Amino acid sequence: MPKKPTKYIFVLGGVISGLGKGITSASIGYLLKSRGLSVTIMKLDPYLNVDPGTMNPYQHGEVFVLDDGSETDLDLGHYERFIDVDMSKNNNATTGQVYEAVLEKERLGDYLGQTIQVIPHITDEIKRRVYEMNRPRRFDAVISEVGGTVGDIESLPFLETIRQIRLEKGRENVFIAHVTLLPFVEASEELKTKPTQHSVMKLREIGLEPDLILCRSSFPIPKSVKEKISLFCSVPTSHVVEARDVKSIYEVPLVFHEQKVGQLVAQQLGLDGANPNITKLEAFVDRFKNPGHEVTIALCGKYTELPDAYKSVLEAFIHAGVENDARVSIKWINSEELVSDKECEKQLGDVDGILVLPGFGDRGTEGKILAGKYAREKKVPYLGICLGLQTAVIEFARHVCGLKKATSTEFKKRASEPVIDLMDGQKKVKRKGATMRLGAYTCEVKSGTKTYKAYRKKMVSERHRHRYEVNNKFRKVLEKHGMILSGINPDLNLVEIIELPDHPWFVASQFHPELKSRVNRAHPLFRDFVKAAVTHSNSQ
Ligand code: GLN
Repeated sequence: MPKKPTKYIFVLGGVISGLGKGITSASIGYLLKSRGLSVTIMKLDPYLNVDPGTMNPYQHGEVFVLDDGSETDLDLGHYERFIDVDMSKNNNATTGQVYEAVLEKERLGDYLGQTIQVIPHITDEIKRRVYEMNRPRRFDAVISEVGGTVGDIESLPFLETIRQIRLEKGRENVFIAHVTLLPFVEASEELKTKPTQHSVMKLREIGLEPDLILCRSSFPIPKSVKEKISLFCSVPTSHVVEARDVKSIYEVPLVFHEQKVGQLVAQQLGLDGANPNITKLEAFVDRFKNPGHEVTIALCGKYTELPDAYKSVLEAFIHAGVENDARVSIKWINSEELVSDKECEKQLGDVDGILVLPGFGDRGTEGKILAGKYAREKKVPYLGICLGLQTAVIEFARHVCGLKKATSTEFKKRASEPVIDLMDGQKKVKRKGATMRLGAYTCEVKSGTKTYKAYRKKMVSERHRHRYEVNNKFRKVLEKHGMILSGINPDLNLVEIIELPDHPWFVASQFHPELKSRVNRAHPLFRDFVKAAVTHSNSQ
């Protein structure tokens, strides 16, 4: 058990949002972990939603589901992938949750007699959540990323809480990393520091100052620019770090390591730690940059212009590509455009694998069904995730089993052949928040299948986020026509994985394998899917 007091590292952002604070937090976590220190990372989200589960992907990107079923920010995906620990609902706190907890206590009478205020009641609740991360004591450091940008009205209570934590725990135990942007002005060919200076001034207004400034930049940062930032923002030049654009997010910890970020955070916080060992990540990045093969995978979905909506899928392909010595190029396919077999031929004719993405509602589903048909008939490797399993089952029911009206009751309420239907337990559910089938469930894998070949074990645990399921009433007819139900939930008796025989690789899962893929430990289904795509591309 760590002997020193818990160290608190806060990662804040200035200038604009979307600077990669999540990856920065995960990278600092990785570097501390590589020194033998134990760390966890939490995300403090200033929005009022209780969780991102009810938000549109355009608003929020992917919803990352944890084993415990909580629907969280996609940054938790980065945390899990970089520091390789399973997180829980405590790792993500939103303003909505904080207010919900405070108001619940108020109604219970816990604050009888008091006026409830942002300071101290809201800030106390935020503090409690940060401290709770290390109870019982198991981490040397707790990293907390604050969403949004310094200067936003809604992030003020979080920044005020950090000020209080620094007062309570002592400066020697609190470290503030500030991520900013250095814009490049073409006309004068200069990297400008003023926005960074202003965002640090904003921080100072609240009573905080950064210990480390990580500057996002598309160009190398000259020494003179670093010195300027150092002077105006009161940090040593060595604490002004260049966070340049890189090919792969997994390079970020390596770039930070070159600039001694792990060392200076550890030193300032008085954390000893061992010599950092980053060789595995270096080897991973090296293999990523120098692959022997290249395959093209079609991603069929609705939000194809918004890659953040499928963040974990894209990461899973990076992991699986490295394990297959292959670069995976993504071809985005808007499933609404797949209106005929001919269109499928046109758009999918040159790909080595087809992935049908998760989704909600019926828009674009006919195209997803046709993409499955194309993959089945043309023997192109196929991976279906969640809705991508459901559309594959509908396709098989319609075109192989002859159930012409097969569909999901999600698309047609009064379907005559509902091969996909709501689970009984879902039928009475009215509320939208946190009511899907969420989180980790056990699945028993049938031996002798491609699925088993991928997992090499009988019992697996995978993460879910859906309301609809394969209708058990149709299991017999699907099996009679050759579909293999290769994964079954033994407790609920539900179909979790299907596959097709007489096909190079056609597998679909009701759960989301992408959520459990990690660096140097690609998800078995993604790994074998990419392997099949490599074989397919070699045979063309
Ligand atoms: N809309 C489908 C369901 O709720 C699939 C969900 C998903 O793809 N995550 O069952």
